[in-house]
Amino acid sequence: MKTDILGIQFDNLTREEAKEAGAVLLRSPEFHYAVTPNPEFILAADKDLEFQKILNQADLVLPDGIGVVYSAKILGTPLKGRVAGFDFACDMLDVLDEMGGRLYLLGAKPGVAEEAGRRILESHPNIVLCGTHDGYFKDSDPVAREVAQAQPDLLFVCLGAPKQEKWISRFGLITGAKLAIGLGGALDVFAGNVERAPEKWQKAGLEWAYRLKKEPKRIGRMAKLPLVLVKAAGRRVTGKGRQGVL
Ligand code: UDP
Repeated sequence: MKTDILGIQFDNLTREEAKEAGAVLLRSPEFHYAVTPNPEFILAADKDLEFQKILNQADLVLPDGIGVVYSAKILGTPLKGRVAGFDFACDMLDVLDEMGGRLYLLGAKPGVAEEAGRRILESHPNIVLCGTHDGYFKDSDPVAREVAQAQPDLLFVCLGAPKQEKWISRFGLITGAKLAIGLGGALDVFAGNVERAPEKWQKAGLEWAYRLKKEPKRIGRMAKLPLVLVKAAGRRVTGKGRQGVL
């Protein structure tokens, strides 16, 4: 069952349930994709209906930011909790390792996907890293063909939103992957270039604050985020919670 948060239809799952649902997709023969919207996505999708449609047509829509969880609470339709895109990615790597499946990493600056792949294989020796490509290409067609030739089961697309979701929507099917996931800056974390917040901060719902502390230049981007809570409050008061963003 989906839960509508300001126009985006989220799957209301715990991390464990999301892992089970993702495993089913990864083990089935057809193409699927998962998205991990945070409050920035919700605001962007309100102004970009193509993006909104792509998010809502995904096989799995997981609430990446604590702001999404708070908005759900304000709207009176609480979610079971946050499922961070990075955690979901780690869970899918565990499933892929059990399968002895094939992984393709697309995105980030040159060299980052290779290093991320090298580190992932250290902890997941049964995964076959079938290819990598940086995220700074002009023409998508040859990149999509390269991915298809590598025959991945699992494809991480890390180009930032909404670019990565639009890429998946347009080219995902021809890559032949069983599951593609839009994962923002995850390859930088896997490669060890960006540090994730310690568990204590994550559990307190303060991963955003830790990120801001480490990358103060994100303040401009983040300043907009409380807007989502304000919009949720507006929806709650006017009783229009199920009709998109104000
Ligand atoms: N990126 C990319 N191609 C682009 C623009 C961005 O590969 O044309 C990468 C960028 O190098 C970074 C990721 O996409 O690794 C986006 O990170 P961002 O901080 O936007 O994502 P978040 O962590 O907020 O999800």
